[in-house]
Amino acid sequence: MFKSKTSKIAGILLLSASMLLSACGKGGEKETAGTAKNALEQIKAKDKIVIGVKYDTRLFGLKNPASGEVEGFDIDISKELAKDILGDEKKVEFKEVTSKTRIPMLNNGDIDAIVATMTISEERKKEVDFSDVYFEAGQSLLVKKGSLIKGLKDLKKGTKVLAVKGSTSAINIREKAPDATVLEFENYTEAFTALKSGQGDALTTDDSILYGMADQDSNYELVGGTFTEEPYGIAVKKGNKELVDAINSALKKMKDNGKYDEIHKKWIKSH
Ligand code: GLU
Repeated sequence: MFKSKTSKIAGILLLSASMLLSACGKGGEKETAGTAKNALEQIKAKDKIVIGVKYDTRLFGLKNPASGEVEGFDIDISKELAKDILGDEKKVEFKEVTSKTRIPMLNNGDIDAIVATMTISEERKKEVDFSDVYFEAGQSLLVKKGSLIKGLKDLKKGTKVLAVKGSTSAINIREKAPDATVLEFENYTEAFTALKSGQGDALTTDDSILYGMADQDSNYELVGGTFTEEPYGIAVKKGNKELVDAINSALKKMKDNGKYDEIHKKWIKSH
């Protein structure tokens, strides 16, 4: 009787111990997640934020071959983020992304955030988290001056439209001009070079990017106005609420203290 009672108690003890252990296990994981540094804390710990930006997109992110520095609207916004989050605009490291490589590079851990003419879309929200909108663009067309293409309606069968892989523009144009042939390139330098060498009749992407190309070569112009809305957001890995909050707070401060307007004025002409 005594023995059996002991074994019963021992059994209960064992059971509760194992329940406790498994609870500890779960709690332990939770605790690890809690004590493991979130993305914002990691950025603070390394005292540097690594941001993916374009290197070939005049006005937004362009590498200046003379200085070796990248320059543009997205670059200045990134520096402000570093200033707000880490207290020094120099505490940002830039890495080149293209429209195609930016999400994989973010999710691989190569970069902490994307500030690269990136439209907030429902499709992309499945893969990354976005900040509030920090710039509003719209898709348009770039053609050689004198072209018979004046707008979307002229993109007929046999017309070749150039776009960049991984961009919303490449997807949208197929829907807006279903009869045209779409040729996709790795980046905007390649696409613009292809337009200039006559490989296509029009290049399509955001007006904001096309203005940079038209600035660079006055033989080209935008036509047809804008036919989509492209609100730009800063992307971070999914689930990093603290980092998104810190970015949104930095964006809000920039807008409140006039820094955002200053950056906007510096890079974006009213066309
Ligand atoms: N904003 C558009 C996009 O996110 C076009 C510009 C780009 O290719 O980055 O796809």
